[in-house]
Amino acid sequence: MFAKLNIKPRTEQILQRAFKGPISTEDALYLMNTTGNDLNALLITSDLLRHELVGDEVTFIKNWNINFTNICSGTCGFCAFKKDSEDSDSYFLEISELVKRAKSAADNGAREICIQGGLHPEVDAYFYEKILKEVKAKLPDIHIHAFSPMEIYSGSKKAGLSLEETLRMLKNAGLGSMPGTAAEILNDDVREIICPGKLTTVQWIEVVETAHRVGVPTTCTMMYGHVETLEQRIEHLDILRNIQKRTGGFTEFVPLTFMHQNAPIYQEGISRPGTTGSEDLKLYAVARLMFHDSIKNIQVSWVKLGFKFAQICLMAGANDLGGTLGEENISRSAGASYGVRTEPSELERIISDLGRLPAERDTVYKNIQRI
Ligand code: SF4
Repeated sequence: MFAKLNIKPRTEQILQRAFKGPISTEDALYLMNTTGNDLNALLITSDLLRHELVGDEVTFIKNWNINFTNICSGTCGFCAFKKDSEDSDSYFLEISELVKRAKSAADNGAREICIQGGLHPEVDAYFYEKILKEVKAKLPDIHIHAFSPMEIYSGSKKAGLSLEETLRMLKNAGLGSMPGTAAEILNDDVREIICPGKLTTVQWIEVVETAHRVGVPTTCTMMYGHVETLEQRIEHLDILRNIQKRTGGFTEFVPLTFMHQNAPIYQEGISRPGTTGSEDLKLYAVARLMFHDSIKNIQVSWVKLGFKFAQICLMAGANDLGGTLGEENISRSAGASYGVRTEPSELERIISDLGRLPAERDTVYKNIQRI
């Protein structure tokens, strides 16, 4: 297939095998180191496999983010969003204000609202329940995608509830799905450096598997490009695909390239200055080959990558462009220049320009309508 590219025999063997099933972690690590024509062949293969598994549609969702507080007791070294309560720019929205914003999102066509916040000392699982109930009372049809595994873990501890009790309670109150954030890199040595005090790898797995068990699907994420090794990136992807084998509860994979500009770990010289473009492309491509048909949806975050590079990443195995994002604070705090609401027409333009088919989806990819 790649005769004219003159690629290495091992690369060719792995890429041929990739059409038959998920590649091994050893092969994935090898591919992470490809350059030149071998890299081109990897990108072509991941794009062909994407076509085979999910077709040419590129989906997006009309959604709105509401970050209800930036006050956080966490100590994540990559976070430029968190504030202490005495900081002049800290905030904590009243639930009535949060409901007002959700209403405004729905009036503007949002079908999903994503609610996340810092680890505020007064917030526990019962507070999350209250948010859900009040939003659902006004907007029964809106899909609420809310609360990171870290928020669930901390909220359940503060409320004196088990994870299962917490998640069942929140599901009953209207929780539709959860963002699989707070995963960063699922390796405790890395977590100790970039987010000491955050839930451990085992605890993150426990939260998402409990969510899946009680019927709350989640996305899964990976924040990469700071201090982790290539081996640790592959280990992370392997953990995600093994969870998916056990539960089937992941709706999509969202790679999040590290935004270094305002991150304390970069400013203190601990981390690298983020990834290069080819590292991002390889991450998308290798994830597609590792997940194969187990996690079919791979999202490109235009907020972090910008529209132009997000479009290019759609050629490396990805098939989703995320949301229109009525409000986004976290990436912008970290230094991203994007993150303010974008019109669906702009996303459609990027998708159509690639010869792909724009389609609007719901949160869990059940309802997909071509535009
Ligand atoms: S990433 Fe989340 S938990 Fe960590 S400091 Fe920032 S807001 Fe807090």
